[in-house]
Amino acid sequence: MLFLDPNKPIATCVSKSCQGCPVEDKLHCHFTLKDLTHFLLIVLPSFLLGGAGVYHFSGWMLSLWIFMVIGYFGFIEIRVMCSHCPHYAEPGKSLKCWANYGSLKLWKYRPGPMSPVEKGVFLGGFIIVWGYPLLFLVLGYQWFLLSVYVISVAGFFMTLKTFLCSQCINFACPLNKVPKNIRNAFLERNPTIAKAWGLGK
Ligand code: SF4
Ligand code: SF4
Repeated sequence: MLFLDPNKPIATCVSKSCQGCPVEDKLHCHFTLKDLTHFLLIVLPSFLLGGAGVYHFSGWMLSLWIFMVIGYFGFIEIRVMCSHCPHYAEPGKSLKCWANYGSLKLWKYRPGPMSPVEKGVFLGGFIIVWGYPLLFLVLGYQWFLLSVYVISVAGFFMTLKTFLCSQCINFACPLNKVPKNIRNAFLERNPTIAKAWGLGK
């Protein structure tokens, strides 16, 4: 199966069915090819434009950036952020969600909040990954590409925050924007996660 069974509650959920669940249409407990495609469509322009700018400066520098991107999104981010996500508790050796699809689950599932160090590494990684092309766009005097790149990065984060972070089941992430009442409704159905947040009985 490429994605989780949409008719079955997730591994941490104690409900018998998703039908009638008050958060069913508010949170993304399950993911589809459409979700993955949507994510790729909003993130790829920034990588293609940034990559073009770095490549114009140096192919070696582009190789280094690709290495950093794979290392961060394939391993580091998975450890500091995704290992706190309920989706990480699903059976299988890799993630099947809208972002980081296919990344290996090398670490154990750790429900509950991210530590300040984890948050720092998570946000610092974003700054390094999307900040790196800026250096080469400026050093290479690629002003038009620089402006389009900045717009693509801003567009990505605005779309991410508005449409994805507002429905994401990883409440530990510093970008998560799910309202408190929806979080509580989800936690009522996911008692092991509530307990890890110090809210369980
Ligand atoms: S919280 Fe609701 S929508 Fe999510 S898996 Fe459980 S029953 Fe399904
Ligand atoms: S935090 Fe996002 S990218 Fe990571 S496992 Fe959860 S849904 Fe996937």
